[in-house]
Amino acid sequence: MQFLSIIGVLFLAATASASDGASRGDSGIFGPPYENILRAQEALQVAYPELVTLHDYGTSYEGRRLQLLIAMKQKELPFSRTAIVMAGATHGNEYLHIEDRLPAELLRLANRESSVSKFLNAGGVLVFVPIVNPDGYERRSRFNARGVDLNRDWDVPPAGFKGFKERESAALSGALEQLRLQHGLRYAITVDYHCCAGALLTPWSYTEDDLPEPQLGHHRAIGALAHKDLGVTVGATGQVLGYTPTGTSKDYYFASYGALAFTYEGRFKTEESQMPGHLRWWEAMLDYSRENLFSETIQTAMSSLHGFNVDL
Ligand SMILES: [Zn+2]
Repeated sequence: MQFLSIIGVLFLAATASASDGASRGDSGIFGPPYENILRAQEALQVAYPELVTLHDYGTSYEGRRLQLLIAMKQKELPFSRTAIVMAGATHGNEYLHIEDRLPAELLRLANRESSVSKFLNAGGVLVFVPIVNPDGYERRSRFNARGVDLNRDWDVPPAGFKGFKERESAALSGALEQLRLQHGLRYAITVDYHCCAGALLTPWSYTEDDLPEPQLGHHRAIGALAHKDLGVTVGATGQVLGYTPTGTSKDYYFASYGALAFTYEGRFKTEESQMPGHLRWWEAMLDYSRENLFSETIQTAMSSLHGFNVDL
């Protein structure tokens, strides 16, 4: 009996570390020096002065500038402006060479008839944070310079979990909250780029409990779009990865803002060739957002059901 239970424990441990390990794989995709990524963002501000603003929101432990890009048109709306957030390289070794190119690729469509221009003209807002963890990115590490996993450092109120002990995650959440208050934003969709499960993960991360409606249905709709354009598996974190981590940004965005919150897990070595699929998916998401998530009624329904949002 005792022998059997030891075998059982060993089996469980092996299963957990195998699935954990698979999801923590290095992407095998290498990008330019971080300074070049910052310079590319500055070039976008020069190219689109009426649309793009850059925000330096702090520094990493090793002193690298933390910077995000926000794209929006001047517009007065009677209710909150729907915003979509993209973040990448929270795990520095999971960079996909998608997250740093997407801002330029999407902005290229901003001044012509496209899903991007329709979204921006309707008052939509795009926030891009290509590299959340520049120290980890430069040293090709999952962790920040203090050896901490930043995707275990976000507040998750329903789990009673307090995060934001690290500079990079605390500064990003603070910057997003400041932008929300300054511009009257409602974070409707968030996408964090990671590697390498080839999947789109939905909340929750920390538990296998289902989401309530209407959020569940909206997550499934966005997931179906990702499956169509990128061929990825779609499911809750626990179902796809086989473990339930606490402290992920996805759970924070969902719990705090009622955002449809996703982790996009790219594919080892090959994801960077998928840019056309990512662009199609983003355009479909912008259309979906404009058609389904802009109205005040929907905004209220989406942010009040779960009861954890910061407005309460
Ligand atoms: Zn990751």
